[in-house]
Amino acid sequence: MKSAFASLLLKWNKTTRQRSMPWRGEKDPYLIWLSEVILQQTRVEQGMPYFLRFKKKYPTVKHLALAKEDEVMKLWQGLGYYSRARHLHFTAQYIYRELKGKFPNTYTDIRKLKGVGDYTAAAIASFAFEENKAVVDGNVIRMLARVFGIKTPFDTTAGKKEFATIAQSLIDAEKPGIYNQAIMDFGSLVCLPQSPLCATCVFRKTCVAYNKDLIEDFPVRAKKTEIKNRYLNYLLFRNSKQLLVQKRNEKDIWKGLYELPLIETTKVTAPKSIEKEIKSRLNLAEFKLTERKAYTQMLSHRKIYFHFYEVEVADWASLKWDGAIKTPIRQICNYGFPKTIHLYLSQNSLL
Ligand code: SF4
Repeated sequence: MKSAFASLLLKWNKTTRQRSMPWRGEKDPYLIWLSEVILQQTRVEQGMPYFLRFKKKYPTVKHLALAKEDEVMKLWQGLGYYSRARHLHFTAQYIYRELKGKFPNTYTDIRKLKGVGDYTAAAIASFAFEENKAVVDGNVIRMLARVFGIKTPFDTTAGKKEFATIAQSLIDAEKPGIYNQAIMDFGSLVCLPQSPLCATCVFRKTCVAYNKDLIEDFPVRAKKTEIKNRYLNYLLFRNSKQLLVQKRNEKDIWKGLYELPLIETTKVTAPKSIEKEIKSRLNLAEFKLTERKAYTQMLSHRKIYFHFYEVEVADWASLKWDGAIKTPIRQICNYGFPKTIHLYLSQNSLL
C-alpha cells in the first residue's frame, strides 16, 4: 500500500514541470551510473556538459573500458573529485572484462562495484530495473529530517541507518523509479537548504520543522568539517619547446592527473627556502628562481595555497627532476591538469 507521504509526493510530481535533463527517464544502467557519478558533489549545470561529452565519446561501457586512463582524466578535467573518474574507468573495465560487458541488474550486485555506494546503487536499480530501493542523498535527508522532525545526526552510523529505514518505508513499491526521482527533485526544488518554499509546500500541514518553526535546525549534523591547509609550490622548468611535467601517482588529491615539479611545504615558504630545496634536489648547480604567481583554492576539506615559480636553467639537456619528464609544449594540451595548474599554464600561453 502506498504511504500518505508517497501519495502527496507523487501528486506534487504530476503537477510540477521538471527541469529537462539529458539523463531524465534514462533506462540504460551505464548512462544512469555515468550521470550519477558526475552529479556527486557537482551542480547539475556544471555536470551537464560533462555528461554529454562522456556520453558522446564513450556511449557504452565497452567504449569507456577500452579508453586510456589519461584520456578519461583529461575529459574529467575541471570537475574535481578525480577519484570518481578513476573508479568509473576501473569499474567499466571490470564490467567489460569480468562480467562480459553486462551491467549488473540488482541493487546487491550493483553495490558490489568499486566506487558505487548505497545511493548510486539504489538510483541505478530503481531507475533502470524498477527495483524497490529508496535513494537517500542530501536532498532526501534534509526533507525527511524536516517533515518528520528527525533529530538523529545524519552523519552518524545510527543516523544513516535511521534515514535509510524511514526512506525505504515510504517508497511507492509500484513506481520506485518515479518515486525516487520525485523525492530528489522535491528536495532540490522545494525543500531547499536555505529559504525552502514552505508556503506552497504539499507537506506543510504535517511538516514538523515548519509547524514548530525549526526549519533551520534540520537536518542535524554531528561533526564539524575540519579544514586542512596544503602549501604547494610549483616549479615551471621550460625552454622554447619543452617543459617538465609529472604524473600524480600517490594516493592523494588529483591522483592520475599531471602537474609541474612540486615542492610541498607545511606553511607559506619564502623563495630563499624554496631555492635551497631546489638545490638539494636538482642535478644542476646553476639556476635562477623567479616567483610568478600565487592562488588559493578551496576544496571540500582543504584550502590549497599555490605558489608558482619559474626556474631558468642554462643546461636544459642535462636537466633532471626526479619523477618528471620533458614534454613538448605543443602536446601538453593532451594532459589533464588540476584546475589551478591549468589556469596558470593558460595564463602563460602554454595551453
Ligand atoms: S513545509 Fe517547508 S520544510 Fe517542510 S517539507 Fe515543505 S518545504 Fe520542506
